[in-house]
Amino acid sequence: MQNDYRAVWNNCLKTIKASIPEESFDTWFEPIIPVALQNNVLIIQVPSQFFYEWLEQYYVDNLRKAIYKELGTEGRLEYSIIVDKGNAENRPQTINIPIAKIEYDKQHPKYQANSEQALKRKNEILKEYDAFFKSVSFNENYTFDTLVEGDCNRLARSAGYAVAKKPGITAFNPLMLYGGVGLGKTHLVQAIANHVRSNQPDKIVVYVSSEKFTNQFIEELKNNNLQKLTNFYLQIDILIIDDVQFLSGKEKTQEMFFHIFNDLHQHGKQIIMTSDRPPKELQGLQDRLLSRFKWGLTADLQQPDYETRVAIIQRKLQTEGISLENDIIEYLAHSIDTNVRELEGVIVSLMARSSLERREIDTELVRQTVQHIVQTTVSDAGVQHSAEMGIDTIQSVISSFFKVTLAELTGKSRKKELVVPRQIAMFFCKEFTNFSLKSIGYHFGGRDHSTVIHAVQTISDLCTKDGEIRQNVQQLGEMFKQKAK
Ligand code: ADP
Ligand code: MG
Repeated sequence: MQNDYRAVWNNCLKTIKASIPEESFDTWFEPIIPVALQNNVLIIQVPSQFFYEWLEQYYVDNLRKAIYKELGTEGRLEYSIIVDKGNAENRPQTINIPIAKIEYDKQHPKYQANSEQALKRKNEILKEYDAFFKSVSFNENYTFDTLVEGDCNRLARSAGYAVAKKPGITAFNPLMLYGGVGLGKTHLVQAIANHVRSNQPDKIVVYVSSEKFTNQFIEELKNNNLQKLTNFYLQIDILIIDDVQFLSGKEKTQEMFFHIFNDLHQHGKQIIMTSDRPPKELQGLQDRLLSRFKWGLTADLQQPDYETRVAIIQRKLQTEGISLENDIIEYLAHSIDTNVRELEGVIVSLMARSSLERREIDTELVRQTVQHIVQTTVSDAGVQHSAEMGIDTIQSVISSFFKVTLAELTGKSRKKELVVPRQIAMFFCKEFTNFSLKSIGYHFGGRDHSTVIHAVQTISDLCTKDGEIRQNVQQLGEMFKQKAK
């Protein structure tokens, strides 16, 4: 029976296979190799630490059920994790870790008896800084439900969700999320806070931006209350610090944060941070602090792709209770591809203009609004960027340069005197904007991305062969560079 580990594992697989999607099964269970069964402990080998963490995050319940079914409730599972693949001389190295023992169970009588007391304790601790935390901007509508999932945020979102379900218990501690402005960092971390607050009301969750954190530190330092402040932070269960890049150069605040960080982490409390850049690019942050960030999981948020942008627009429209034609939604998704905040900005302006000017939201209104917004992007810090070049700007410069109309430039005609300006315009859109080839093609009469690639290549070739075209491209290039400054 002890040697039947393969049979036991095969039966477990059958149970698991019946309860999860086939794709997940292939990804996460096919690669597992059973290695032994000793005293009711089944040992399975998994390819990496990450793999182990993933199983523990998402499939621990399936695993546990399957094991109980095969070995009874005394049955246990142990992961043998390959940490070094080894080579001809050295055997692969593995470490063994038992399946998570701690299971959060709200129904458990022990938990219920404690909860009233825990709630009281929580309220007392939070009371200390009630006024301060009321001044921190926090949005209760930032939930996982309202955070549209896409390739751009899948890892960060799932890790965030795992942490929200089992704060402090997962291997994602600390959880470090980074990505550019307006990509949903704040939304995601506040969704974690909202989730924990409604599902585990006895947990003390603190959300604070690193700027506010610094101000609070300075204030309490002045008031001679530093000890009180530190004590407060040491008692919380989940600490969320947004935009840690603002801690750079603030040595004293970092010192306090380092102290709090270590203590909380040591006690299995959850720490979540966001930053606008990857940790290794966080200048002015002490190395010892940075090295802590690597203990858990670092995940990035990227610019949403076209399909995700469409989904986000639809979701926002739905919340606002308005509906728009599909072609208008497509136009919007193709026109704003920088970040979600900008996308939202356009939707809000659209609604405002449509009600002020008593106009239907049509393509023309969308076009004007998009142009206006893209040219006056205001970043988080309130700094005005120079006008960003849009496809519209490039098209209008090219059309007046070559004396062709906008309709001709984006139209169907294959006449040489139109094809060359059209290709030059696409060439500059590729050069001077961040729009995808797909979006550029869309703005040139719905052409596809391969047409844009072809245009870019043709113009590059012609620049080496054709003196007149080279001169025009150079002259235009100078004009766009001036504009882009
Ligand atoms: P960041 O903190 O990264 O600068 P925010 O979290 O403030 O970005 O997001 C900017 C806006 O975009 C917010 O209103 C947020 O709700 C919205 N947003 C960002 N990502 C998504 C998404 N995936 N789904 C829905 N809304 C999103
Ligand atoms: Mg933010």
